[in-house]
Amino acid sequence: MKFNLDNLVRENIKKMTAYSSARHEYKGEASIFLDANENSFGSPLSVNYNRYPDPLQWELKNKLSSIKGVPSENIFLGNGSDEAIDLLFRIFCSPGKDNVIIFPPTYGMYEVCAETNDVLVKKVPLLENFQLNLEAIEEAIDANTKLIFVCSPNNPTGNSIDRTDIEVLLNNFDGLVVIDEAYINFAKQKTFIPELTEYPNLVILQTLSKAWGLAGLRLGMAFAGQPIINYFNKVKYPYNINTATQQLAIEALGNILSINNWTKTTAEQKDWLSEEIGKLKFTQFVYPSDANFILVKMDKAKKYTNTS
Ligand SMILES: *Cc1c(COP(=O)(O)O)cnc(C)c1O
Repeated sequence: MKFNLDNLVRENIKKMTAYSSARHEYKGEASIFLDANENSFGSPLSVNYNRYPDPLQWELKNKLSSIKGVPSENIFLGNGSDEAIDLLFRIFCSPGKDNVIIFPPTYGMYEVCAETNDVLVKKVPLLENFQLNLEAIEEAIDANTKLIFVCSPNNPTGNSIDRTDIEVLLNNFDGLVVIDEAYINFAKQKTFIPELTEYPNLVILQTLSKAWGLAGLRLGMAFAGQPIINYFNKVKYPYNINTATQQLAIEALGNILSINNWTKTTAEQKDWLSEEIGKLKFTQFVYPSDANFILVKMDKAKKYTNTS
């Protein structure tokens, strides 16, 4: 079998007509809008939010495009990465029929979204060195496997997944390989974004919640080929990114130098902290981290973490 996006998408999603909003249909500049029943007096705030936001967030995407080196057409923006994860299930996985593969221990939202959507989760645990078990993955894949989630750097282990192993998945799996790069800014390993032109089955998730310090704004990014982005846009809420978030994110993206400094400092402090924790007498092992957190194996770990 060869990769074919239309074979992966749920029939109902393929057939449906997307909601077309007033802001969607009107293109151009106007000083008076009467087509969306908004309040023409303004807002009871010092900043006006009386108008609906740009449904496709072009100004923000253009800014991200130049920072990330990817065309705006290859970007989807969500209410956190979590929205992108949920939409992947809703676009590609038929409830009660399809399945996805995850590699525990890993980020909890993949399984939560799967359960919300009544989609089976196949778990292929990471090896002892927290790398992929390629043989077991091959065995787990069946005709109804739609998505494979690779979290790299992985939460909670902190390591990056071997690039060549991810490439094996990309080259051999006919569903989508979703690489969650929430911690990529801290990693020595490079992003897979340049590989988008190579792999039509690649989806990359990033977020402004970690290195960018904007967890409260809720802005997640998905990068993928245009056919996949088109499906995201078809299924998402028409105005999923509010005006305040769009404006504040645009402003924040102008401060990339501060972010680069913070990221560098975080990496230095992480190295220092890893070394110091390693000296504690109840520390068994400090795992190498490519993220902004550290996994530590300790004697009687439950005793130190039990908050009840
Ligand atoms: C924190 C985190 C995210 C971020 O999710 P948002 O919804 O964008 O805040 C995504 N993936 C992983 C693995 C994370 O740890």
